[in-house]
Amino acid sequence: MIKKASDTEIQFLPGVGPKRAALLARELGVGTIGDLVKIYPFRHIDRSTFTPIAEVVPDAAMVQVKAQVVSVETPPKRLKVTVKDDTGEMDLVFFKGVKYTAEKLVPGAVFTFFGKPALFNGRLNMVHPEIDPAPAPGAASQAGVMTGVYPSTEKLRNAGITAKVMNKLMANALRMVLPEVTETLPQYVLQENSLLSLQQALRNIHFPKDAELLKRARYRLKFEELFLLQLSLLKQKFIRSRGENGIVMAKVGEDFNKCYDALPYQLTGAQKRVIKEIRTDLMSGHQMNRLLQGDVGSGKTMVAVLTALLAVGNGYQACIMAPTEVLARQHFANISKYLAPTGVKAAVLTGSTKASERKKLLPALANGEIGIIVGTHALIEDTVVFKNLGLAIIDEQHRFGVEQRARLWGKTTAGLPPHVLVMTATPIPRTLAMTLYGDLDVSVIDEMPPGRKPIQTLLITEKQRPALWRFIKDQIALGRQAFIVYPLIFESEKLDYQNLEQGYEKVVQAFPFPPYKVAIVHGQQANDVKTFNMDAFVAGRANILVSTTVIEVGVDVPNASVMVIESAERFGLSQLHQLRGRVGRGADKSYCILVKGDKVGKDSQHRLELLCNTENGFDLAEEDMRMRGPGDLEGTQQSGLPINLNIASLAKDGQILQAARGYAERVLAADPALELPVNRLLRIELAKGKYEVKDYSKIS
Ligand code: ADP
Ligand code: MG
Repeated sequence: MIKKASDTEIQFLPGVGPKRAALLARELGVGTIGDLVKIYPFRHIDRSTFTPIAEVVPDAAMVQVKAQVVSVETPPKRLKVTVKDDTGEMDLVFFKGVKYTAEKLVPGAVFTFFGKPALFNGRLNMVHPEIDPAPAPGAASQAGVMTGVYPSTEKLRNAGITAKVMNKLMANALRMVLPEVTETLPQYVLQENSLLSLQQALRNIHFPKDAELLKRARYRLKFEELFLLQLSLLKQKFIRSRGENGIVMAKVGEDFNKCYDALPYQLTGAQKRVIKEIRTDLMSGHQMNRLLQGDVGSGKTMVAVLTALLAVGNGYQACIMAPTEVLARQHFANISKYLAPTGVKAAVLTGSTKASERKKLLPALANGEIGIIVGTHALIEDTVVFKNLGLAIIDEQHRFGVEQRARLWGKTTAGLPPHVLVMTATPIPRTLAMTLYGDLDVSVIDEMPPGRKPIQTLLITEKQRPALWRFIKDQIALGRQAFIVYPLIFESEKLDYQNLEQGYEKVVQAFPFPPYKVAIVHGQQANDVKTFNMDAFVAGRANILVSTTVIEVGVDVPNASVMVIESAERFGLSQLHQLRGRVGRGADKSYCILVKGDKVGKDSQHRLELLCNTENGFDLAEEDMRMRGPGDLEGTQQSGLPINLNIASLAKDGQILQAARGYAERVLAADPALELPVNRLLRIELAKGKYEVKDYSKIS
């Protein structure tokens, strides 16, 4: 078999060789000639037009000027050339090829210079611009011809892979690869969406014939990525909904009604709507896989309780999984209150449940006596067996991996997989949710319970600390409580503990006992110590709770009106928003006070200000994504998004995404498993695995 050009190692591309090949691999991840043509220009410039020097903005993108050499100086180790046009003057600096360049740039001669402008000692300059002969007067106009600008690094440029060289390499690579490029999308998909062929798209993304073709090339390549991504995600859903594989829960049941009638408040419209959506799922005969998004405090717990009661009312058990011990216990306490009017028995199981208690609990779970069990990861241990688990509710899904979810499925004797409701308070922008949870149905509680006072968010510095302490004392005098949270990103970091302990000392000095009581909770305390301190705060015996982010999710202390976040710049935006949601739960006006360190970067400052000005979690997430791009979304920062898109951007290509998703739905409606011959190419593309989201747990 003849090796395809695209599979040929990059070192064999004319103009590359082993040294540059190693560099291209390291800097851009390019191993083969085929890899190279998949590096698309992120911008194109019209090389036939020139920027007047007077209009060159330092630190702007690359510019091209046509200028005359005025003088050439050779201070030690470099070459400094001054050039001018009719509008002004600038310097060019060269550290390499000094002799050769000096010979070329004779004063009086005119060239075109292409490079990145900067300001140096108050003068405009360009370091190592590319030099081309100036176009001869009256030469055929090249207007509209655009050259791609490729991602580059200093190392690449130093090795001589300049923008111009990159363009040459790309031209060589395309000449070899294009003839063997085969179409990846079926003909009907191209036609119905008016897409360029892959060949045309590749040619025009690198060397556009005109602006219109460039636009269409970009669209084709982005559409392809987003369309295949949506197909990959939606396929599971379409296959699932074809099979009759869900437990039918047709009844509402007495327990649901008893609980509902005894509620101390009216459900919000959004809560009612979501419960209706869930009920429709439960009756459908298909397994429910629903994501419930709702900002902190929007009342998801109530929805969970009522959903669990629907399962119980149909003769099935339900489990509710929480990410931490503290949360599981708090959930259990809350849920027990709501269950009081019903006869349903609930229990809690965590890592610290005593052996004697387990002995009673496990049989009661196995024989169906317990209707609803709340717990942590302990619920997925092998010893835990259900009589007939019909519903699993997972709170704060990002902390449970897919595998852990799958283990739950195996625990039921119901014969069919349990329905799944995943709840998250992490607001995910719509476009991202559509992409990442393409296989889940999404419900949103977009309305807060009435009577909630807005939370005032303030950004302060260490200088304002005395005022902050006075403010907290005033709040305590009014009978309120305060959280003071320290960053603890990695549980093992010694420094973080020092911060926390020193912070605690400072707080205790400022709020001496009596009359003040300060409790402290962190991840390295024994469970009973943690529970004791937490309970002291929940019950109102402590005025202040100093803690790490263990209180991040779920903990409900309606009497707390102040949330102080120390070194706020060290937290992610969504984490800050979660923490802020711990207050504002009672009827009092609440405050979130962000204390920032002395050295805060521009981005962090911007983020903190954004938080001060935005209270809605979804708006915040949208804005954050717009500012940073989805690849940097919190929680995905370290691991990267679980999918790599080459050209499409989830943040910027929302419209193409919508179109691609709608079209993917139409394709799947006609052929859910993509079995028809016309969809052969789609099957092949999906089989490559590029579009599979492997680990949902990485998404926060
Ligand atoms: P979430 O889990 O979504 O952050 P919770 O379920 O803990 O929110 O609810 C927050 C608070 O609002 C709780 O104290 C709860 O009792 C209360 N609550 C929930 N639904 C309503 C409602 N419809 N009307 C008034 N208060 C409500
Ligand atoms: Mg909650």
